[in-house]
Amino acid sequence: MVRSVSAAPLRRCAMPGTPSTVAAAPIVSANDVRKSFVHMGRTLEVLRGIDLNIFEGEIVGIVGQSGAGKSTFLHCVGTLDVPTSGSLKIAGEEVTSMSGARLAALRNRSIGFVFQFHHLLPEFNAIENVMMPGLIQGISRGPLETRARALLDEVGLKERFLHRPGELSGGEQQRVALARALVLDPKLILADEPTGNLDSKTSQQIHELFFQINQQRGTTLIIVTHNMALAQSMPRMVTLKDGRVEKDERRENGEPAPEAAAP
Ligand code: ADP
Ligand code: MG
Repeated sequence: MVRSVSAAPLRRCAMPGTPSTVAAAPIVSANDVRKSFVHMGRTLEVLRGIDLNIFEGEIVGIVGQSGAGKSTFLHCVGTLDVPTSGSLKIAGEEVTSMSGARLAALRNRSIGFVFQFHHLLPEFNAIENVMMPGLIQGISRGPLETRARALLDEVGLKERFLHRPGELSGGEQQRVALARALVLDPKLILADEPTGNLDSKTSQQIHELFFQINQQRGTTLIIVTHNMALAQSMPRMVTLKDGRVEKDERRENGEPAPEAAAP
């Protein structure tokens, strides 16, 4: 049986070998988040009151029909867009009242993005693509390159450091995008349909990589997906419908928890 989520979960500390169970702080706290677009003179209410807390170290799948508002919500969480009303706190900071410069600083410091289409720069090789967010931040090349190599190794691309995107498979390109998302060591990674463009075997490998990053680094991951097998393998799955949270389900170890284990 799955159970609805209401309060802060008790979870194992992300530090390997630490047996204690701790109450995590919310890294995303959305209260009555609304977003409207004015399109050809008509107001379109896309997010219609989202209430959701996501806690540090969680891995959460977001599902829902096309047009439900998944990408819009993810863009708001990623500070790429701003809600029309409501409260949205990222890492404890209220983003609805922040200036563009402070939003950008928060985004650079705390958030990594992985999109369906990886948006790698075609004229740069894998190492350079991974280094790019750090170069933009003015981090010196030497340490950044060391870090990019280590991250590419971590995502299984040790043999592809110098390949350009056009010389990599779709799955490999998405691994580079994931290494790039990790380069500034964000607390939160947001992925929008990251495997929407990949075959099922490659998707499965990318999913395993998400779990590996979550477990080894304690990074919080929010993954919008159409892939129900992936969503159902996650410990928490949130369903959006018509701009609201329709369901919020938690599973033990990504599998439906036995009834006896429910509180
Ligand atoms: P999902 O990711 O769940 O498929 P989206 O969040 O992309 O849905 O879009 C939800 C709705 O909002 C869609 O009907 C879409 O057309 C509309 N929408 C999204 N972005 C804009 C925009 N910038 N201007 C006008 N309408 C938009
Ligand atoms: Mg979308």
